[in-house]
Amino acid sequence: ADGIGLFRTEFQFLISATLPQRERQQRFYREVLDAAGDKPVIFRTLDVGGDKALPYLKDEGSEEENPAMGWRAIRLALDHDGLMKAQARALLEAAGGRTLNVMFPMVSEPWEFDQARALFEAQMAFLSSRKKQLPSRVRYGAMLEVPALAETLDILLPKLDFISIGTNDLTQFLFAADRAEPRLAERYDWLSPAILRFIRRVVRECKAHNVGVSVCGEMGGRPLEALALIGIGVERLSITPAAVGTIKAMVRSLDVGAANLMMEALLDRPVDKLRTAITDWAKEQQVEIG
Ligand code: PEP
Ligand code: MG
Repeated sequence: ADGIGLFRTEFQFLISATLPQRERQQRFYREVLDAAGDKPVIFRTLDVGGDKALPYLKDEGSEEENPAMGWRAIRLALDHDGLMKAQARALLEAAGGRTLNVMFPMVSEPWEFDQARALFEAQMAFLSSRKKQLPSRVRYGAMLEVPALAETLDILLPKLDFISIGTNDLTQFLFAADRAEPRLAERYDWLSPAILRFIRRVVRECKAHNVGVSVCGEMGGRPLEALALIGIGVERLSITPAAVGTIKAMVRSLDVGAANLMMEALLDRPVDKLRTAITDWAKEQQVEIG
């Protein structure tokens, strides 16, 4: 792989019996950056709350009826900004002298990104006043997983360095279908005009603003879905490590120009079964879809 597209920082919090203090977070982030060497790591700030409940943090929404749509991720982080400040400082110190890539989960409106970025910048000013070594560069990104954000990309894109489309949450919100509900798991297909047209539009808008865009979540780790994503212009996928070999084999056997033409035609005039049409095309073209 060429780097880590989504480092879920909440895991360290979820496996701890007590809140990991700033120094512990910092040591961990530094180890990750050391291990990655020259390859980029994108740290996602805490995505807790809702169903990712932290036992040592009270009132964080675990009693909510709709936790996925509740007080979680950046919503909780901006309200409880002590947690976010400590994490910002840990990340900034760990990345001293190097590039720090940081992104915020569940951004619904541009002001949430502005506040989160301002919080990081205030921590930078503090560290600078203490003569601490700062990152050589900080690149800021947002996850696009709440559909509303797609309507304000013209406002958001000039403010940031990259967007990562989180297909797990995005799909559940686009289809109003709980991602944890097994009875809905097979009901809506990632290879549907709704999802693919939505992502195509976001990718086009990001490219028009010269903002890097990638796709993360389970979708990109599946060969046919990855093929479709590449066909609509996606050039970066962040996938589960176990899928890297399979997806690279698929990509190496793919004629991207031909995939673009096929996907444009299919999305302009969708057929009944998109999955079947893409599978047939892949077989005909001898693309390695496993
Ligand atoms: C997503 O929602 O697609 C995503 C990558 O984040 P998570 O699965 O951690 O919610
Ligand atoms: Mg998500």
